[in-house]
Amino acid sequence: MLNQQDISRLRQMVAEAKQAAIVAHINPDGDAVGATMALQGYLQQFHPHLTVQAVFPNQPPAFLMWVEGAKSSFCFATDKEKTLQYLQQCDLIFFVDFNNVDRLEELGARMRHLTARKVLIDHHPQPDDGFDLEFSDPSMSATCELMYLIMDALGDAKKLSVATAEALYMGILTDTGSFSYGIQTPSTFRVAADLMALGIDKNAVASRVFDSYSEHRVRLLGYTLKDKMMVYPEHKAAYIYLSRQELNDYHFEVGDTESFVNYPLSIKGIELSAFLYESLDASHIRVSLRSRGKNISVNELARTHFKGGGHFNAAGGKFFGTLAQCCTYFEGILQTIK
Ligand code: 5GP
Ligand code: MN
Repeated sequence: MLNQQDISRLRQMVAEAKQAAIVAHINPDGDAVGATMALQGYLQQFHPHLTVQAVFPNQPPAFLMWVEGAKSSFCFATDKEKTLQYLQQCDLIFFVDFNNVDRLEELGARMRHLTARKVLIDHHPQPDDGFDLEFSDPSMSATCELMYLIMDALGDAKKLSVATAEALYMGILTDTGSFSYGIQTPSTFRVAADLMALGIDKNAVASRVFDSYSEHRVRLLGYTLKDKMMVYPEHKAAYIYLSRQELNDYHFEVGDTESFVNYPLSIKGIELSAFLYESLDASHIRVSLRSRGKNISVNELARTHFKGGGHFNAAGGKFFGTLAQCCTYFEGILQTIK
């Protein structure tokens, strides 16, 4: 929970800093982009002495790029030198929507020697050590919910711009599956109500995020559910799997398979779902895991079997081997779950 001492330290760190970066995890999702751009907008509005720049390890999907400021964010994968040069000059770096430097991949390794003060703002369990200041609260539905409460504790929530409020709302909307799963606390709805009071058009935000798919993406979803889904009712589990060739056949673009892993969970009786697919550089299999209810912690599953992590009901990791081996391995895990 937020305490006044941490808020005072944050206020002091921001006041003392000259150049800041806000860094989110690789394959940034709605919460990562929303929280990053909201914090950038907030700092620009309330702390104009500070030079601030959003940094993503790789390009966020197109359907998140409408958020104010996103188009001028730095992308490490496409512009390494410029990004590293900027980071080297920072005296303050925010780590947003992740808590483990491995989730920055190569960028994390390149940032290890930096001496800037490090502030964590995140809602995943089991954070790394090494931050100068931590706002880490797994009871939050989204980092964006926590971000809003921090801005509120700083005394500025009522004066947020509509663009900042929309970015925050987007993060909550996407991390809760449109308020249908994740943490259930009244706080989420109070924050959403406050954001509406600031003048956001919540229907337009939902439409920009969820109604902007390509035809290829919708057809890829159809193909995946029809031909690439294995269902094991006896284990209350199902998984879907895609090769790079299949992704290419459907003109895959970043973000196209976002939320695919949720579909098997819509089958009655299914409590565990996985999505296994070949990574872009063919170096590994990406593993996305979801569970429903309180029986299966996919965070534990991801940590134990896939060098990953996440939340109780939503997690991810990697498998080093072929797609076929990964499917066999996952089926083996199912035998151990009753
Ligand atoms: P997704 O399946 O949407 O990629 O990720 C679901 C959740 O698991 C997110 O909260 C994400 O932060 C977390 N997650 C995904 N991949 C990894 C990973 O490789 N390592 C860790 N620690 N967390 C992950
Ligand atoms: Mn999140």
